[in-house]
Amino acid sequence: MTSPASGASSAADYAPIPRSALGPALNEQRYYVGRVERNLYYVTDGVYQSAFLTTRDGVVVFDAPPSIGPNLRRAVDEIAAANGVTNRVTHFVYSHHHADHGGAASLFGGDVIRIGHEETRRLLLRDDDPARPIPEVTFADNYTLEVGGERVELAWRGPNHTPDNIYIHFPGHDTLMFIDVVNAGWVLIYNLNLSEDVIGYMGAPAIALDYPWTHFICGHLGRLATRDDVAVHQQYIADIEASSREALTSIDPVPFYVAAGENFWAGVKAHLDAVTERAAAPVIAKYTGVLAAADIEVFTRTTTFQIMQSLRLDRGVTVSIPVQP
Ligand SMILES: [Zn+2]
Repeated sequence: MTSPASGASSAADYAPIPRSALGPALNEQRYYVGRVERNLYYVTDGVYQSAFLTTRDGVVVFDAPPSIGPNLRRAVDEIAAANGVTNRVTHFVYSHHHADHGGAASLFGGDVIRIGHEETRRLLLRDDDPARPIPEVTFADNYTLEVGGERVELAWRGPNHTPDNIYIHFPGHDTLMFIDVVNAGWVLIYNLNLSEDVIGYMGAPAIALDYPWTHFICGHLGRLATRDDVAVHQQYIADIEASSREALTSIDPVPFYVAAGENFWAGVKAHLDAVTERAAAPVIAKYTGVLAAADIEVFTRTTTFQIMQSLRLDRGVTVSIPVQP
């Protein structure tokens, strides 16, 4: 272990994290495994989440973040022993192709059946990472996985965080797993949680809420999410969209270009920075104390920039250009 470099942020730089945003305490091996419902469990290291289903015919694992790594195997062994069922992992499901959620997939080798969206397969072939073996079983829109009398419904409903990010519904467990869109109780990290399709990302929480569920496995932080967490997330995004629209249409770009002279890119930067700052500031103020770490301002600023650009490029919102006399 290395210690943080000097100049790294420390807890003292920010407001304390409310207890309600944190998950259960980790054990000595630095993980927590908890029952979601019946034989569905989730595992967290406090930052990343994975899930598994123990059945009489084998264990199904959903995602394998490398930060949890071998502790995922420990958690499966511990729970299978406690439940008196096999600890043999027979199926592995990728939520999406990203290495930070699937990079320990190779820990489950042998005759495990790997399942993923067809775009996940394509992207994993492209990325050629031995830590993320290619799924043999793929699907385009929907796939029903039945193991040991349990049923899991996988669905692709368009690109969002990534082109291949799927909804994993457990109808017999009152649970939805959907990764990297909502962070339960916490602000998003940089650039809309590092998402690729802004419009798809903004519409995804409504699709998630259309499913019946009480428990939501969102992929990050220590606890499960609730329907209220998704609603707060939606409001945060809606607030950024509204203030971005307001800032885009009310800040006159001309003075920025005049001041920049023939360096047109300097004009672009000054104008877009001004729009971003005006749009993000009230959202940061509103959500500080509501979403954990909202006072890490660069997260909301970069997310605002991303949404503001999508308004301009996808939605066609135009900046105000005063008519010259
Ligand atoms: Zn991701």
